This record gives sequence, C-alpha cells and structure tokens, in this order.
Amino acid sequence: MKFTWPNGARAAVAVTFDVDAESAILAVDKRFAARASTMSHQAYGPKVGVPRLLGVLERAGVHATFFVPGFTARRYPDTVRRIVAAGHEVGWHNDLHEPPYSLEEAEERAILERGAEVLEPLTGGRPRGFRAPWWELNERTPRLLVEAGFAYDSSLMDDDVPYRLQTDAGTLIELPVHWSLDDWEQYAFLPEPDIGAQIELPSKVLELWTGELDAMRDEGCLLVPTMHPFLSGRPSRAKMLGEFLARVRERGDVWVARAGEIAAHADATLAPGDVRRLDLPDV
Ligand SMILES: [Zn+2]
Repeated sequence: MKFTWPNGARAAVAVTFDVDAESAILAVDKRFAARASTMSHQAYGPKVGVPRLLGVLERAGVHATFFVPGFTARRYPDTVRRIVAAGHEVGWHNDLHEPPYSLEEAEERAILERGAEVLEPLTGGRPRGFRAPWWELNERTPRLLVEAGFAYDSSLMDDDVPYRLQTDAGTLIELPVHWSLDDWEQYAFLPEPDIGAQIELPSKVLELWTGELDAMRDEGCLLVPTMHPFLSGRPSRAKMLGEFLARVRERGDVWVARAGEIAAHADATLAPGDVRRLDLPDV
C-alpha cells in the first residue's frame, strides 16, 4: 500500500467543493457582471447548490471541505456560515479567483494573507488549506502559502497520496487532485465565456469515480473529488453524489475526512525528512 491510513483503511476520500459563484467568470472578464443570465448560472451555486449539497452530506454523514474565494465570502456570508455550522471545513481559494500564474509576488502574497482576514470572521478560525483557482500554482506559491500560515495545498497532480513539499520558508502538505475527479470536465457548459461544453450523465460520473475509488483502494491512495456547487448542486448530480458516498460507505474500508484532517494525518505519518521540492523544467 502506498500510504498508511487510520484504522487500517485502504484508501482515503476528501470530499471537496470550490464555491466559485460569479468569481470564476469575473476573473476571466469583469464585463460579464452585466450579463444577468450568465451571473445567475453562477449564483445558483451559493443560493441553491450549497444548501442542497449540505443536505446530501448530512444524510451521508460526511464532513467535507469547501474552498471559498473572498468574493464569495463577502457576497454570500450566510452561505459560508451555513457550511461552517454543518461542521465542514472552509479553505481559501484566492480573492476573485485569481490564478497564481497571473500575479506578481507582492500581489499574490497580499491575496493569500487576505484569506484569514476575510474568512476568520465567518468561520472562527484561520483557513489551514488552500486550493489554487484552476489548480495552477506557480513556482513561488508553496513558499508564500507557508509564509501566510497555511498547512496544506490541494492543487498539484504529481502523485495520488499526500506528500510533504519543502519550500525555503518551511514545509507544506500537498493533497493531490486530478481532472478525472473534477465535476468541471463533466458538467461545465456556458456559451460564453468558454468554460467548457460538456453536459455528461451523472451515471457516467458515478461509474468513473467508483472505478477510481476501487482502484485506489487496491493501492492505498487518496481520492479528492472536486465539485462546484453551481454544477454539482443540480438535482440529479447532487443525487449522484449521494449514491457515490453510499458506495464509499458500503466498501467499509475507506476513511472519509475533511482535507485538513487528512493533511494533519499526513503530517504526523510522513517522516520529517521525507520531503519533495517543486521541480519545474528549466527551459
Ligand atoms: Zn474555483
């Protein structure tokens, strides 16, 4: 097995949501703010998707992790309060969904430091986790995350178990993700901007994710399904998530926990010297 999980579990699952709301579209072009239907497609996430998904999680007895941009927290503070009240974790997802590669260092640092400032009044604690918009870290983001007090990131794809990332400022736990476990590639459709053109069957996604779950149980991996309430909050998709979580429970050997708990377990399990560094091609 690639990793040791609590109580002899064969795999771990961190159920995660990125509560982008309008920010993912406005980060492309702020002029979309004037397009009421496009904005309403995004507002569905915090208004309808999150409450429905909270019900699915409650019925499944699962605590999840919600990565929230500052924009969403300011515009929908009650949505964030409901997430926290239901026992879920809240992490930072930049302010207006800015991809780190588009930012200068000072700007990126300021946005990461804003995470605690914006979220703490709503959640009662500093965010421990970070997920980069579009999962695009840059070379310095891990160091800036350590400097801003984050304990873990969940944006890289070069493994399927947690690992410790060494930076010049200290270490960070990485909880790797993958596009095959992201609802965006299955369900994202808008005429403009081009966020994707897929409306796949939830049954297909259930099959895809169940296959990944069982193969990961063979090897001791970490599964990080990543969903967006404006997509997976639709009725048939939320229902599929409930069915997927029932399958996870039926297996009887999978540890389901908040990303922060999995990061803390990894931090306690990995030897302190067991570190990796970001290794980007020098071209
Ligand atoms: Zn996002």
